[in-house]
Amino acid sequence: MENEDLRNQVLEACRGLAACGLGAGIGGHVSVRYRDEPYFYMHVFDRAFEEMQLEDILLFDFEGRPVDSGRSPSLGIEFHHGIYKQRPDVQSIVHSHGFWITAQAALARAPRILNNVSTVFYERTCVSPNDDFSSIAKALCDDDIAIVIPWHGAITLGGNLGEAVSRHVIFDYTARMDVTLPPDAPQMPHEQCADLKELVEKADYYSETWKMIQRKAKATYDGCRVIPVVF
Ligand SMILES: [Zn+2]
Repeated sequence: MENEDLRNQVLEACRGLAACGLGAGIGGHVSVRYRDEPYFYMHVFDRAFEEMQLEDILLFDFEGRPVDSGRSPSLGIEFHHGIYKQRPDVQSIVHSHGFWITAQAALARAPRILNNVSTVFYERTCVSPNDDFSSIAKALCDDDIAIVIPWHGAITLGGNLGEAVSRHVIFDYTARMDVTLPPDAPQMPHEQCADLKELVEKADYYSETWKMIQRKAKATYDGCRVIPVVF
């Protein structure tokens, strides 16, 4: 039943997110679905992404119970299996309380689109009043890839783990643009969003971003934990 490849993927994602400055505190989760089975890998609650090790990554069933461990996940685990059941296309989920993501979430709306690589989130971001799955289920549409949880953080979804992680890192960038640019900064017009979104997808920007995050995870891991270099 154990799948070491999937466990290692979750670990690499945690370290990558940490390398990008999204994993200094307790809280936040990364999960990957066990293909065609009602299970997924996620990590324990009591480690930051920066500290995560392979033994902290556990297999969970679709009730949110660890299959073979007494260690506890986050209390917020429920939306993972909830989303996996609702959206068969989603193979991986990332949630964080990254600083910029959380600051943007305090505006209680989807981020403004102010740059090219953020256009992938245009009309594909929902706002859920809370992180319990019954709130998310009502807000989440079939095509959404990001969820803003006001005064809390955000969730990104992917067809694979690299996609969910790279979307999360770029969502953080998107959030930072939204929070730091003044309210009267002009937002990208609808047609330009649609055109640029297509171009960004075609350019494979997000799969190249995942490769960059993997390199960064390796470069910042000192054998014990990730020491991020954040600008
Ligand atoms: Zn949270």
